[in-house]
Amino acid sequence: MKTLVINCGSSSLKYQLIDMSTEECMVQGLVERIGIEGSVLTQKVEGKDKYVINTEIKNHKDAIKLVLEALIDPVHGVIKSMDEISAVGHRVVHGGEKYSDSVLINDKVLQSIKDCIVLAPLHNPPNIIGIEACKELMPNTPMVAVFDTAFHQTMPKHSYICPLPYDLYEKYGIRKYGFHGTSHKYVSNKVAEVMGKDLKDLKIVTCHLGNGCSLAAVKNGKSVDTSMGFTPLAGVMMGTRSGSIDPSVISFLIEQHGYTIEEVDELLNKKSGVLGISGVSSDFRDVLAAGEAGNERAKLALEIFYYKVRTQIAAYAGAMGGIDVIVFTAGIGENSSITRKEILKGLEFFGLELNEENNEIRGKIQEISTEDSRVKVYVVPTNEELMIARDTAKLVK
Ligand code: ADP
Repeated sequence: MKTLVINCGSSSLKYQLIDMSTEECMVQGLVERIGIEGSVLTQKVEGKDKYVINTEIKNHKDAIKLVLEALIDPVHGVIKSMDEISAVGHRVVHGGEKYSDSVLINDKVLQSIKDCIVLAPLHNPPNIIGIEACKELMPNTPMVAVFDTAFHQTMPKHSYICPLPYDLYEKYGIRKYGFHGTSHKYVSNKVAEVMGKDLKDLKIVTCHLGNGCSLAAVKNGKSVDTSMGFTPLAGVMMGTRSGSIDPSVISFLIEQHGYTIEEVDELLNKKSGVLGISGVSSDFRDVLAAGEAGNERAKLALEIFYYKVRTQIAAYAGAMGGIDVIVFTAGIGENSSITRKEILKGLEFFGLELNEENNEIRGKIQEISTEDSRVKVYVVPTNEELMIARDTAKLVK
């Protein structure tokens, strides 16, 4: 069985075709600048040259058409016909309170994903466009929606209810939903497997540190708390997002300094975080380099980032009554040994000891705590696509 995994953004589309008999990724690709001048599809197959198509891609339907053509291309493709694709798994950002697991897509499900647009106005619309385009082009292929929010639906009320008038939750659905759920689920499952332990016996803190950053407290295999909230703006500081701040800053900027709501929204989402403090870049590599070169604001941005993640980890010890394992994943978490080291500094009182040599190893699952460390620490490369493909295959069977 071959499963196509689609992750549609507003002007981009990432895809992978996964052979479920081996769980191997046969091909991965990216379509960029959909609907914008300079559209391009780039496809990579192990052992073959990179396949690049520069052509006008007006919309997501055109993009998916081109993806299917690239997949069956006699030279650069990996399958003979579209019929070899048994199912399509779509990443969907927001499933609201309705979905605590992945689901086979039918008209009713599609409508409920549309109903969640109010909660994720930037993310759910492109996800829906991707589903609708696939439905048109591959009407007989079953499709599954895998939600970023689903894994966190196990959070207890004391984690997810905001301390606001309760009727805002009842009337408008204002609560913590949490995101990156597919990644937190994947790495928490994987670390238990690697440790040879039952998930049910572990208290895990998963740290997904990429452009967007979130942590989750995973107790007995269930998410009991996570740092992102009603939207992916909350929690720890990120590349361009502020993370949680005193909400009064917003009315202060509007009332005292004439900002508009749109400007504040842009400021918090696109101009804050590591970029906002360093003034250098939102890309962590650039900020690390600037910090090393002596840039004081870059150093400060890094210090704050480490501090926010460190204190969030410590908070989850309180949430779970202790920590057995800490897992680092995503672009920064998987690749930056200095970041992991700095975050963990100060957490030694938990009985945590870093194995500095192992912390330098990259590109694979790695235990980076010492043998004697009571709290174990692992780097686990995330694989959201595989998780989506697994859920898709399970539901289609
Ligand atoms: P996304 O959330 O968009 O999927 P990624 O998980 O790919 O993002 O993470 C992107 C971030 O990872 C960027 O800030 C990038 O600088 C950072 N990153 C990638 N490689 C390294 C590295 N070797 N050292 C430090 N940061 C890195």
